[in-house]
Amino acid sequence: MSTKIKPIITTPDPRLRQKSTKVGFPDDSTKKIINEMIAASLDWEKSHPHELSAAMAAPQLGINKRIIIVRDDTDNKKNSSFTALLDPEVIKTDGKITKDYEGCLSVPFLYGLVPRPEKARIKAKLLDGREVRIKVDGMLARTLLHEIDHLNGILFIDHIKDDKDAFFELDEDGELQPVDYDTRIKDNKELFPDEA
Ligand SMILES: [Zn+2]
Repeated sequence: MSTKIKPIITTPDPRLRQKSTKVGFPDDSTKKIINEMIAASLDWEKSHPHELSAAMAAPQLGINKRIIIVRDDTDNKKNSSFTALLDPEVIKTDGKITKDYEGCLSVPFLYGLVPRPEKARIKAKLLDGREVRIKVDGMLARTLLHEIDHLNGILFIDHIKDDKDAFFELDEDGELQPVDYDTRIKDNKELFPDEA
């Protein structure tokens, strides 16, 4: 079966700022959305040689359903399998708050040093409807918290919007370089449409 490539939507598209609705029991339409998400992630990667598409949330395709996909192996770009989590919920976060770099397919060019808790307990459903509870830490915890934020209309930039030293972009060699906060970030209506 071939899946048509849906475009990944980017800021300031208002669909990125909506709260998504529950999937309930997964059916064929759920499976179709997941296939579209995987196809769009892998297509994006083809045009971004320095980056790996680690995860995606359905709102990034303009579909406001509580579905996320996570790459099974983020160390190996050749492994293109993903796991889908439906109606994921953060039950608890724990551990220290640490900062690390995050990027987002829906926030072109920018990266951020984002504070997040080190550990999380998450409840979700798999595609067969089975409920799972998982304990995650490190980069996987960060990735899942980032994707679950999307389902609530929250982007990583919201966590750092007042932090002058938290924004970066990739140079042509794939190295992160600081972005000038006052000219590029502060009062940027494309990034922060709700700011007065
Ligand atoms: Zn994202």
